[in-house]
This record gives sequence, C-alpha cells and structure tokens, in this order.
Amino acid sequence: MSERSSSSGHEGGRRRYISRPKFCQFCADKSIKIDYKQTDMLRRFVTDEGKIRPRRQTGTCARHQRELAGEIKKARHIALLPFTAEPWQEAVQE
Ligand SMILES: [Zn+2]
Repeated sequence: MSERSSSSGHEGGRRRYISRPKFCQFCADKSIKIDYKQTDMLRRFVTDEGKIRPRRQTGTCARHQRELAGEIKKARHIALLPFTAEPWQEAVQE
C-alpha cells in the first residue's frame, strides 16, 4: 500500500542535454563577441519574455553575465530585443 507511483526520480534513460553548458561559453570560446548587434546570440540568453536567463541556466560566468546583461539592455534600448515588464534599475547613459 505504500508503493508510490511517483516517478520523479526516474533514471536510467538517456541524459537529456537542455543546453546547459558547464562552462561559460564566452570563456570557452574567445572568438564569441558579446555585442548588442548579435541578436541571434543574445536571444539564446534571454527567455521568450525577453528576460535575461540566470547564470545557472546558461553557465555564463559572472564577468560575462554582466557584459551580456549590458549588451542585452542596449539591444532592448534600440528595440532589437523586447522589453520586459521588469523596471529599469539604472539609467542608460552614453
Ligand atoms: Zn566567462
């Protein structure tokens, strides 16, 4: 009677890679440039809602995450990426 049918601990199947690299992609590949004009690249680091993905999802190191966040904000500023509902925390100044 105590047999649980919950299969939350399901194992044995194939390991699924949810594109969550162990290392920072920018540290790993120095040729990748974080640039607000590279929207295809930036899009990989934002959710469908346009929010910046947390580091634990992307594996990006703190340094590059900051850089990335800055470029994403720039991209939003010139409407390459959608704005989110989150309020602006800092004024953008050139
Ligand atoms: Zn890095």
